[in-house]
Amino acid sequence: MTTPVWHRHVWHPYAHLKTQTPAPKVVGGDGAHFVLESGERLLDATCSWWCMIHGYGHPRLVAAIREQAGELCHVMLGGLTHEPADQLARELVRITPNGLDHVFYSDSGSVGMEVAMKMALQYQVLTGHPGKRKMLSLMKAYHGDTTGCMAVCDPEEGMHSLFASLLPQHHFAPAPTAPFDASAEQVEHDLSALRSVLERHHDEIAALLMEPLLQAAGGLNMTSPDYVTGARALCDEFGVLLIFDEVATGFGRTGKLFAADHAGVTPDIMVLSKGLTGGYLGHAATLATDRVHDAFIGDSPQHAFMHGPTFMGNPLACRVALESLRVFEEENYLGKIAKLSQQLQHELLEDQALNAHPPVADVRVLGATAVIEAHSTEALKGVGDFARERSVWLRPIGRWLYTMPAYITSEAEITQITSVMKAWFLES
Ligand code: PLP
Repeated sequence: MTTPVWHRHVWHPYAHLKTQTPAPKVVGGDGAHFVLESGERLLDATCSWWCMIHGYGHPRLVAAIREQAGELCHVMLGGLTHEPADQLARELVRITPNGLDHVFYSDSGSVGMEVAMKMALQYQVLTGHPGKRKMLSLMKAYHGDTTGCMAVCDPEEGMHSLFASLLPQHHFAPAPTAPFDASAEQVEHDLSALRSVLERHHDEIAALLMEPLLQAAGGLNMTSPDYVTGARALCDEFGVLLIFDEVATGFGRTGKLFAADHAGVTPDIMVLSKGLTGGYLGHAATLATDRVHDAFIGDSPQHAFMHGPTFMGNPLACRVALESLRVFEEENYLGKIAKLSQQLQHELLEDQALNAHPPVADVRVLGATAVIEAHSTEALKGVGDFARERSVWLRPIGRWLYTMPAYITSEAEITQITSVMKAWFLES
Protein backbone atom coordinates (compact mmCIF):
# COMPACT_ATOMS: atom_id res chain seq x y z
CA MET A 1 0.00 0.00 0.00
CA THR A 2 1.39 3.44 -0.86
CA THR A 3 1.05 5.98 1.91
CA PRO A 4 -1.06 8.90 0.71
CA VAL A 5 1.07 12.05 0.48
CA TRP A 6 -1.15 14.00 2.89
CA HIS A 7 -0.76 11.26 5.45
CA ARG A 8 3.01 11.04 5.02
CA HIS A 9 3.44 14.72 5.90
CA VAL A 10 0.71 15.40 8.43
CA TRP A 11 1.81 14.37 11.92
CA HIS A 12 -1.30 13.35 13.85
CA PRO A 13 -1.91 13.90 17.57
CA TYR A 14 -1.37 11.06 20.03
CA ALA A 15 -0.49 8.80 17.07
CA HIS A 16 1.66 5.69 17.26
CA LEU A 17 3.46 6.19 13.98
CA LYS A 18 4.51 2.56 13.57
CA THR A 19 1.22 0.85 14.26
CA GLN A 20 -1.42 3.39 13.44
CA THR A 21 -3.39 2.79 10.27
CA PRO A 22 -3.65 5.81 7.94
CA ALA A 23 -6.23 8.30 9.14
CA PRO A 24 -9.33 8.32 6.93
CA LYS A 25 -9.75 11.56 5.01
CA VAL A 26 -12.84 13.61 5.80
CA VAL A 27 -14.14 15.59 2.81
CA GLY A 28 -17.27 17.17 4.25
CA GLY A 29 -20.17 16.80 6.61
CA ASP A 30 -23.73 17.75 7.36
CA GLY A 31 -25.75 17.51 10.55
CA ALA A 32 -24.29 14.95 12.93
CA HIS A 33 -22.45 13.12 10.12
CA PHE A 34 -19.13 13.60 8.42
CA VAL A 35 -18.29 12.10 5.06
CA LEU A 36 -15.08 10.31 4.10
CA GLU A 37 -13.28 10.35 0.75
CA SER A 38 -14.45 6.75 0.33
CA GLY A 39 -18.07 7.96 0.45
CA GLU A 40 -18.69 6.53 3.95
CA ARG A 41 -21.04 8.70 6.04
CA LEU A 42 -20.21 8.37 9.73
CA LEU A 43 -22.39 9.51 12.62
CA ASP A 44 -20.00 11.43 14.88
CA ALA A 45 -20.69 10.34 18.47
CA THR A 46 -17.74 12.37 19.77
CA CYS A 47 -18.77 15.74 18.38
CA SER A 48 -15.22 16.07 17.03
CA TRP A 49 -13.65 15.98 20.48
CA TRP A 50 -16.62 17.69 22.08
CA CYS A 51 -16.72 20.88 20.08
CA MET A 52 -19.06 20.55 17.04
CA ILE A 53 -22.20 21.20 19.06
CA HIS A 54 -24.25 22.21 15.98
CA GLY A 55 -22.88 19.37 13.88
CA TYR A 56 -21.24 19.90 10.49
CA GLY A 57 -22.03 22.43 7.75
CA HIS A 58 -24.53 24.48 9.74
CA PRO A 59 -25.76 27.05 7.18
CA ARG A 60 -25.95 29.98 9.63
CA LEU A 61 -22.45 29.42 10.97
CA VAL A 62 -21.00 28.99 7.50
CA ALA A 63 -22.74 32.17 6.33
CA ALA A 64 -21.44 34.12 9.35
CA ILE A 65 -17.86 33.17 8.52
CA ARG A 66 -18.38 34.05 4.83
CA GLU A 67 -19.88 37.46 5.65
CA GLN A 68 -17.17 38.30 8.16
CA ALA A 69 -14.47 37.18 5.73
CA GLY A 70 -15.76 39.80 3.30
CA GLU A 71 -15.41 42.52 5.97
CA LEU A 72 -12.33 41.79 8.09
CA CYS A 73 -10.43 38.53 8.52
CA HIS A 74 -7.93 39.57 11.12
CA VAL A 75 -6.40 42.42 13.03
CA MET A 76 -4.22 42.05 16.11
CA LEU A 77 -6.06 43.28 19.22
CA GLY A 78 -2.92 45.09 20.48
CA GLY A 79 -4.14 48.69 20.72
CA LEU A 80 -7.04 48.08 18.29
CA THR A 81 -10.45 46.52 18.58
CA HIS A 82 -13.31 45.50 16.28
CA GLU A 83 -17.04 45.03 16.49
CA PRO A 84 -17.18 41.19 16.67
CA ALA A 85 -14.74 41.18 19.63
CA ASP A 86 -16.76 43.84 21.48
CA GLN A 87 -20.11 42.21 20.76
CA LEU A 88 -18.96 38.74 21.75
CA ALA A 89 -17.47 40.01 25.01
CA ARG A 90 -20.81 41.64 25.86
CA GLU A 91 -22.64 38.42 25.10
CA LEU A 92 -20.26 36.28 27.15
CA VAL A 93 -20.57 38.62 30.11
CA ARG A 94 -24.37 38.41 29.78
CA ILE A 95 -24.61 34.60 29.71
CA THR A 96 -21.84 33.49 32.09
CA PRO A 97 -22.25 33.41 35.89
CA ASN A 98 -22.92 36.81 37.44
CA GLY A 99 -19.82 38.88 38.05
CA LEU A 100 -17.57 37.60 35.25
CA ASP A 101 -17.31 40.96 33.50
CA HIS A 102 -14.01 40.93 31.65
CA VAL A 103 -12.97 38.79 28.69
CA PHE A 104 -9.43 38.00 27.60
CA TYR A 105 -9.37 36.18 24.25
CA SER A 106 -6.99 33.54 23.00
CA ASP A 107 -7.13 30.76 20.44
CA SER A 108 -7.38 27.35 22.14
CA GLY A 109 -8.44 25.76 25.39
CA SER A 110 -4.86 25.18 26.53
CA VAL A 111 -3.86 28.77 25.93
CA GLY A 112 -7.04 29.97 27.62
CA MET A 113 -5.92 27.97 30.68
CA GLU A 114 -2.38 29.37 30.50
CA VAL A 115 -3.92 32.85 30.52
CA ALA A 116 -6.01 31.93 33.57
CA MET A 117 -3.00 30.63 35.51
CA LYS A 118 -0.82 33.64 34.66
CA MET A 119 -3.66 35.98 35.58
CA ALA A 120 -4.07 34.27 38.97
CA LEU A 121 -0.35 34.44 39.75
CA GLN A 122 -0.08 38.08 38.78
CA TYR A 123 -3.23 38.89 40.77
CA GLN A 124 -1.63 37.42 43.88
CA VAL A 125 1.56 39.44 43.36
CA LEU A 126 -0.41 42.64 42.75
CA THR A 127 -2.52 42.13 45.87
CA GLY A 128 0.47 41.56 48.13
CA HIS A 129 0.78 37.76 48.13
CA PRO A 130 3.94 37.07 46.12
CA GLY A 131 4.43 33.75 47.96
CA LYS A 132 1.35 32.28 46.26
CA ARG A 133 3.20 30.91 43.24
CA LYS A 134 1.65 27.48 42.72
CA MET A 135 -1.58 26.01 41.48
CA LEU A 136 -3.77 23.46 43.21
CA SER A 137 -5.24 21.00 40.73
CA LEU A 138 -7.26 17.80 41.07
CA MET A 139 -6.21 14.28 40.25
CA LYS A 140 -7.84 13.03 36.99
CA ALA A 141 -7.65 16.61 35.65
CA TYR A 142 -6.86 17.35 32.03
CA HIS A 143 -6.29 20.99 31.16
CA GLY A 144 -4.32 20.78 27.89
CA ASP A 145 -0.98 19.87 26.38
CA THR A 146 1.06 23.07 26.63
CA THR A 147 3.88 23.12 29.18
CA GLY A 148 1.92 25.11 31.77
CA CYS A 149 -1.15 22.93 31.32
CA MET A 150 0.74 19.63 31.43
CA ALA A 151 1.97 20.62 34.88
CA VAL A 152 -1.60 20.76 36.21
CA CYS A 153 -2.84 17.53 34.57
CA ASP A 154 -3.09 14.35 36.65
CA PRO A 155 0.62 13.48 37.22
CA GLU A 156 -0.09 9.78 37.72
CA GLU A 157 -1.96 9.34 34.47
CA GLY A 158 1.37 9.17 32.65
CA MET A 159 0.50 10.87 29.38
CA HIS A 160 2.95 13.70 30.02
CA SER A 161 5.55 11.80 32.05
CA LEU A 162 8.24 12.14 29.36
CA PHE A 163 8.17 15.89 29.81
CA ALA A 164 8.45 15.94 33.61
CA SER A 165 11.74 17.86 33.53
CA LEU A 166 9.95 20.81 31.92
CA LEU A 167 7.17 20.96 34.44
CA PRO A 168 6.95 23.04 37.60
CA GLN A 169 5.67 21.22 40.68
CA HIS A 170 2.15 22.12 41.75
CA HIS A 171 -0.16 20.72 44.42
CA PHE A 172 -2.86 18.14 43.80
CA ALA A 173 -5.94 17.14 45.76
CA PRO A 174 -7.76 13.83 45.28
CA ALA A 175 -10.35 13.77 42.49
CA PRO A 176 -13.87 14.02 43.85
CA THR A 177 -15.58 10.65 44.18
CA ALA A 178 -19.09 11.81 45.15
CA PRO A 179 -21.45 11.28 42.20
CA PHE A 180 -23.72 13.99 40.78
CA ASP A 181 -26.57 13.15 43.18
CA ALA A 182 -24.31 12.43 46.16
CA SER A 183 -25.35 12.62 49.80
CA ALA A 184 -24.01 15.40 52.04
CA GLU A 185 -21.65 12.86 53.70
CA GLN A 186 -20.11 11.80 50.40
CA VAL A 187 -19.51 15.42 49.39
CA GLU A 188 -18.08 16.24 52.83
CA HIS A 189 -15.60 13.42 52.42
CA ASP A 190 -14.28 14.94 49.16
CA LEU A 191 -14.25 18.45 50.58
CA SER A 192 -12.30 17.42 53.64
CA ALA A 193 -9.58 16.02 51.36
CA LEU A 194 -9.48 19.36 49.56
CA ARG A 195 -9.46 21.26 52.85
CA SER A 196 -6.52 19.29 54.18
CA VAL A 197 -4.33 20.22 51.16
CA LEU A 198 -5.38 23.86 51.49
CA GLU A 199 -4.67 23.88 55.22
CA ARG A 200 -1.14 22.65 54.62
CA HIS A 201 -0.23 24.66 51.51
CA HIS A 202 -2.52 27.68 51.08
CA ASP A 203 0.37 30.08 51.67
CA GLU A 204 1.85 29.05 48.37
CA ILE A 205 -1.33 28.42 46.37
CA ALA A 206 -2.55 31.11 43.97
CA ALA A 207 -5.57 29.27 42.58
CA LEU A 208 -7.56 26.06 42.59
CA LEU A 209 -8.29 24.80 39.07
CA MET A 210 -11.16 22.49 38.32
CA GLU A 211 -13.32 21.14 35.52
CA PRO A 212 -16.57 21.64 37.42
CA LEU A 213 -18.88 18.62 37.62
CA LEU A 214 -17.28 16.69 34.78
CA GLN A 215 -13.60 15.82 34.52
CA ALA A 216 -13.68 15.15 30.81
CA ALA A 217 -10.56 13.50 29.39
CA GLY A 218 -9.61 12.06 32.80
CA GLY A 219 -12.34 9.42 32.56
CA LEU A 220 -15.60 11.41 32.45
CA ASN A 221 -15.62 11.59 36.21
CA MET A 222 -18.88 13.25 37.25
CA THR A 223 -19.37 14.92 40.58
CA SER A 224 -21.85 16.84 42.68
CA PRO A 225 -22.70 20.55 42.39
CA ASP A 226 -22.32 20.66 46.19
CA TYR A 227 -18.64 19.82 45.79
CA VAL A 228 -18.28 22.87 43.57
CA THR A 229 -20.13 25.06 46.08
CA GLY A 230 -17.95 23.73 48.90
CA ALA A 231 -14.79 24.34 46.88
CA ARG A 232 -15.85 27.98 46.37
CA ALA A 233 -16.23 28.42 50.14
CA LEU A 234 -12.83 26.82 50.83
CA CYS A 235 -11.12 29.08 48.28
CA ASP A 236 -12.61 32.13 49.98
CA GLU A 237 -11.56 30.86 53.40
CA PHE A 238 -7.94 30.28 52.31
CA GLY A 239 -7.44 33.33 50.01
CA VAL A 240 -7.13 31.18 46.90
CA LEU A 241 -8.68 32.09 43.53
CA LEU A 242 -11.06 29.62 41.92
CA ILE A 243 -10.58 28.89 38.20
CA PHE A 244 -13.18 26.91 36.29
CA ASP A 245 -12.00 25.13 33.19
CA GLU A 246 -15.26 24.95 31.23
CA VAL A 247 -13.49 24.16 27.96
CA ALA A 248 -15.37 20.86 27.67
CA THR A 249 -18.33 21.47 30.01
CA GLY A 250 -19.31 24.91 28.68
CA PHE A 251 -22.21 25.55 26.31
CA GLY A 252 -24.70 23.01 27.56
CA ARG A 253 -22.69 19.82 27.84
CA THR A 254 -23.74 19.11 31.44
CA GLY A 255 -27.38 20.10 30.91
CA LYS A 256 -27.11 23.76 31.89
CA LEU A 257 -25.40 26.46 29.89
CA PHE A 258 -22.34 26.19 32.13
CA ALA A 259 -21.51 23.54 34.72
CA ALA A 260 -21.10 26.39 37.22
CA ASP A 261 -24.84 27.09 36.83
CA HIS A 262 -25.73 23.78 38.53
CA ALA A 263 -24.08 25.09 41.68
CA GLY A 264 -24.95 28.77 41.23
CA VAL A 265 -21.28 29.55 41.81
CA THR A 266 -19.21 32.30 40.20
CA PRO A 267 -15.53 31.42 39.90
CA ASP A 268 -12.93 34.19 39.90
CA ILE A 269 -11.75 33.13 36.45
CA MET A 270 -13.46 30.91 33.89
CA VAL A 271 -12.12 29.47 30.65
CA LEU A 272 -14.23 28.69 27.57
CA SER A 273 -13.25 27.18 24.23
CA LYS A 274 -14.43 24.16 22.12
CA GLY A 275 -18.21 24.87 21.88
CA LEU A 276 -17.59 28.63 21.92
CA THR A 277 -17.56 28.76 18.11
CA GLY A 278 -19.56 25.55 17.77
CA GLY A 279 -16.18 24.09 16.82
CA TYR A 280 -16.02 26.08 13.59
CA LEU A 281 -12.85 28.03 14.43
CA GLY A 282 -10.18 27.85 17.13
CA HIS A 283 -11.05 30.34 19.84
CA ALA A 284 -11.01 30.72 23.63
CA ALA A 285 -12.09 33.22 26.24
CA THR A 286 -10.77 33.65 29.78
CA LEU A 287 -13.29 35.60 31.82
CA ALA A 288 -12.50 37.37 35.09
CA THR A 289 -14.42 39.18 37.81
CA ASP A 290 -13.96 42.84 38.71
CA ARG A 291 -11.94 41.77 41.75
CA VAL A 292 -9.33 40.06 39.55
CA HIS A 293 -9.45 42.61 36.74
CA ASP A 294 -9.27 45.69 38.96
CA ALA A 295 -6.12 44.43 40.68
CA PHE A 296 -4.40 45.07 37.35
CA ILE A 297 -5.27 48.78 37.40
CA GLY A 298 -2.15 50.59 38.62
CA ASP A 299 0.90 52.58 37.64
CA SER A 300 3.78 50.12 37.92
CA PRO A 301 5.08 48.10 34.93
CA GLN A 302 3.99 45.00 36.89
CA HIS A 303 0.36 45.99 36.37
CA ALA A 304 0.36 45.18 32.64
CA PHE A 305 -0.77 41.63 31.91
CA MET A 306 2.01 40.14 29.81
CA HIS A 307 0.14 37.92 27.41
CA GLY A 308 -0.88 38.53 23.82
CA PRO A 309 -1.40 35.74 21.29
CA THR A 310 -1.36 37.10 17.74
CA PHE A 311 -4.71 35.56 16.87
CA MET A 312 -6.55 36.53 20.04
CA GLY A 313 -10.03 37.84 19.34
CA ASN A 314 -9.85 36.90 15.66
CA PRO A 315 -12.87 38.56 13.96
CA LEU A 316 -13.92 35.41 12.08
CA ALA A 317 -13.86 33.39 15.30
CA CYS A 318 -15.73 36.08 17.28
CA ARG A 319 -18.37 36.43 14.57
CA VAL A 320 -19.02 32.70 14.30
CA ALA A 321 -19.13 32.45 18.11
CA LEU A 322 -21.82 35.15 18.18
CA GLU A 323 -23.84 33.28 15.57
CA SER A 324 -23.38 30.03 17.48
CA LEU A 325 -24.77 31.65 20.64
CA ARG A 326 -27.75 33.07 18.71
CA VAL A 327 -28.60 29.64 17.27
CA PHE A 328 -28.17 28.12 20.73
CA GLU A 329 -30.79 30.47 22.21
CA GLU A 330 -33.19 30.78 19.28
CA GLU A 331 -33.39 27.04 18.72
CA ASN A 332 -33.74 26.25 22.43
CA TYR A 333 -30.67 24.03 22.67
CA LEU A 334 -31.09 23.63 26.42
CA GLY A 335 -34.46 22.02 25.71
CA LYS A 336 -32.88 19.74 23.09
CA ILE A 337 -30.13 18.79 25.56
CA ALA A 338 -32.70 17.92 28.25
CA LYS A 339 -34.45 15.53 25.84
CA LEU A 340 -31.20 14.07 24.64
CA SER A 341 -30.15 13.50 28.23
CA GLN A 342 -33.37 11.69 29.07
CA GLN A 343 -32.89 9.46 26.06
CA LEU A 344 -29.29 8.64 27.03
CA GLN A 345 -30.42 7.83 30.56
CA HIS A 346 -33.22 5.62 29.30
CA GLU A 347 -31.12 3.75 26.75
CA LEU A 348 -27.95 3.34 28.79
CA LEU A 349 -28.55 3.86 32.50
CA GLU A 350 -31.77 1.86 32.58
CA ASP A 351 -30.43 -1.02 30.52
CA GLN A 352 -30.19 -3.84 33.07
CA ALA A 353 -28.21 -6.19 30.83
CA LEU A 354 -25.56 -3.56 30.16
CA ASN A 355 -25.21 -2.55 33.78
CA ALA A 356 -24.93 -6.16 34.94
CA HIS A 357 -22.44 -7.16 32.22
CA PRO A 358 -19.15 -8.18 33.93
CA PRO A 359 -16.72 -6.08 31.81
CA VAL A 360 -18.78 -2.97 32.59
CA ALA A 361 -17.63 -1.14 35.71
CA ASP A 362 -20.07 1.78 35.59
CA VAL A 363 -22.47 3.67 33.34
CA ARG A 364 -22.91 7.43 33.80
CA VAL A 365 -24.94 10.15 32.12
CA LEU A 366 -24.80 13.88 32.74
CA GLY A 367 -26.50 16.27 30.36
CA ALA A 368 -25.53 15.42 26.81
CA THR A 369 -22.67 13.18 27.92
CA ALA A 370 -22.69 9.45 28.53
CA VAL A 371 -19.95 7.00 29.36
CA ILE A 372 -19.65 3.28 29.76
CA GLU A 373 -16.64 2.60 31.96
CA ALA A 374 -14.98 -0.74 31.35
CA HIS A 375 -12.80 -2.55 33.87
CA SER A 376 -9.83 -2.48 31.50
CA THR A 377 -8.50 -0.70 28.41
CA GLU A 378 -8.27 -4.15 26.79
CA ALA A 379 -12.05 -4.42 26.93
CA LEU A 380 -12.31 -1.57 24.43
CA LYS A 381 -9.65 -2.71 21.96
CA GLY A 382 -11.16 -2.64 18.47
CA VAL A 383 -14.29 -0.69 19.43
CA GLY A 384 -13.49 2.10 16.93
CA ASP A 385 -13.49 -0.30 13.96
CA PHE A 386 -16.57 -2.10 15.31
CA ALA A 387 -18.47 1.19 15.42
CA ARG A 388 -17.21 2.32 12.02
CA GLU A 389 -18.52 -0.89 10.44
CA ARG A 390 -21.89 0.22 11.84
CA SER A 391 -21.49 3.78 10.45
CA VAL A 392 -20.73 5.41 13.81
CA TRP A 393 -17.53 7.25 14.78
CA LEU A 394 -16.68 6.38 18.38
CA ARG A 395 -13.28 6.66 20.03
CA PRO A 396 -12.65 5.48 23.61
CA ILE A 397 -10.34 7.28 26.01
CA GLY A 398 -8.50 4.60 27.97
CA ARG A 399 -11.15 2.36 29.49
CA TRP A 400 -14.00 4.83 28.94
CA LEU A 401 -16.33 4.53 25.97
CA TYR A 402 -18.09 7.86 25.80
CA THR A 403 -20.43 9.83 23.65
CA MET A 404 -20.80 13.59 23.58
CA PRO A 405 -23.04 13.99 20.55
CA ALA A 406 -23.87 17.20 18.72
CA TYR A 407 -27.04 18.72 20.15
CA ILE A 408 -28.80 18.48 16.78
CA THR A 409 -28.40 14.67 16.75
CA SER A 410 -31.85 13.17 16.13
CA GLU A 411 -33.60 10.67 18.39
CA ALA A 412 -33.00 7.89 15.87
CA GLU A 413 -29.32 8.81 15.61
CA ILE A 414 -28.91 8.77 19.39
CA THR A 415 -30.42 5.29 19.43
CA GLN A 416 -27.96 4.29 16.71
CA ILE A 417 -25.05 5.50 18.91
CA THR A 418 -26.26 3.86 22.13
CA SER A 419 -27.06 0.63 20.26
CA VAL A 420 -23.51 0.41 18.96
CA MET A 421 -22.07 1.18 22.41
CA LYS A 422 -24.21 -1.55 23.99
CA ALA A 423 -23.65 -4.04 21.18
CA TRP A 424 -19.89 -3.75 21.65
CA PHE A 425 -20.26 -5.03 25.20
CA LEU A 426 -23.21 -7.36 24.87
CA GLU A 427 -22.76 -8.88 21.42
CA SER A 428 -19.10 -8.71 20.38
N1 PLP B 1 -9.40 21.79 29.21
C1 PLP B 1 -10.24 20.76 29.02
C2 PLP B 1 -11.21 20.42 30.12
C3 PLP B 1 -10.21 20.01 27.85
O1 PLP B 1 -11.03 18.97 27.71
C4 PLP B 1 -9.27 20.38 26.84
C5 PLP B 1 -9.19 19.61 25.59
O2 PLP B 1 -9.72 18.55 25.42
C6 PLP B 1 -8.43 21.47 27.07
C7 PLP B 1 -8.52 22.15 28.27
C8 PLP B 1 -7.43 21.89 26.04
O3 PLP B 1 -8.06 22.50 24.96
P1 PLP B 1 -7.33 22.57 23.54
O4 PLP B 1 -7.24 21.17 23.03
O5 PLP B 1 -8.23 23.45 22.71
O6 PLP B 1 -6.01 23.19 23.76
